[in-house]
Amino acid sequence: MTNAPASASGSDSSYLQIQNIVKDFGGYKAVNNVSLDIAKGEIFALLGSSGCGKTTLLRMLAGFETPTSGRIILNGQDLSGLPPYDRPLNMMFQSYALFPHLSVWENIAFGLKRDGLPKDQVGERVDAMLKLVQLGKFAQRKPHQLSGGQQQRVALARSLAKQPQLLLLDEPLGALDKKLREQTQIELVNIIEQVGVTCVMVTHDQEEAMTMASRVAVMSEGRFLQVGSPSDVYETPQTRFVADFIGNVNLMEGTVEVDEADHVVIGSPDCKHYVGHGITGTLGMPVTVALRPEKIHVSRNKPADDFNTAQGTIEEMSYFGSFTVYRIKLPSGQMLKVSMANTVRQRDDELTWGDSVWAHWSRSAHVVLTQ
Ligand code: ATP
Repeated sequence: MTNAPASASGSDSSYLQIQNIVKDFGGYKAVNNVSLDIAKGEIFALLGSSGCGKTTLLRMLAGFETPTSGRIILNGQDLSGLPPYDRPLNMMFQSYALFPHLSVWENIAFGLKRDGLPKDQVGERVDAMLKLVQLGKFAQRKPHQLSGGQQQRVALARSLAKQPQLLLLDEPLGALDKKLREQTQIELVNIIEQVGVTCVMVTHDQEEAMTMASRVAVMSEGRFLQVGSPSDVYETPQTRFVADFIGNVNLMEGTVEVDEADHVVIGSPDCKHYVGHGITGTLGMPVTVALRPEKIHVSRNKPADDFNTAQGTIEEMSYFGSFTVYRIKLPSGQMLKVSMANTVRQRDDELTWGDSVWAHWSRSAHVVLTQ
């Protein structure tokens, strides 16, 4: 999140500049003063639940909506006032919008022919695109003769054929089922990276954003709550909302009992948290401790450390093959979710329903949230 001034040329690190963009729909700010620089070649994801404003922001980049205020600068060029078809970008929609009566080859060629590109260049470009998305042998098929994932790749080839400076993807894999989605995510990233095109995608699926993007912006109510790499937002969420929105998390309420420069102790109903770094806070201040399920270890034996440990009873267990999720009821009634990798086929001390257990986690496992 930066507020860098517009540069005349647009450097590689601020290839796309979104500056103080507001979109007001009759008094409701769907996008509320967001600023962001996106680097050349980056795959950037706008992530948020329904109604957070991500599509409106993408549509402003495409030129389908006009910002109420703010500027969008691409490669040094202010896009204000440019209609969608004059912008050096392409938007790929969830529905693909392939022409059903045209072959794959003709679908990809369509925009190039309309732009009046010479015939031999159209042929070269379409063949290169078909090779890129590995659909050369399907060139003469109609869209309905392809699988959903293949249609998706044709749509991508068509979007890239005009060599846009910016590719916009609106829920690109929304029409695919879960398994195909996962395969296609990797294929899409490989293709986008080969071409080197800068890409902004919108998704409400956090796994998709984490898998595909180099950075993500978590949006809520028209604002960016946090911008960072997938591991930044997962491991160091800055707010309860982000911690809860990205992945699974245990949120435990508490107050600051020891506040030193190199550590803090947070007292909460079921345990005392020792956190191995300082926080910006004061003694007695209410805070939330965020703890990811995979960072907790469970055993029948009481750990030596009095901190970062809680006793409880296993109420639920779900086996997922490579890992098992336990829900442990703590004395306060709070459920602690723990996910443990199944690294051996059978454990000697197999845990099961109703077992009284100790949960334990390290001094760097949790994050203290003050907002
Ligand atoms: P979804 O994932 O459901 O598409 P989103 O995060 O993309 O959600 P937007 O479509 O950007 O959300 O909408 C943001 C807010 O702006 C919503 O409350 C929506 O109702 C409102 N909105 C969007 N377009 C218009 C419009 N043309 N007129 C009035 N309000 C609008």
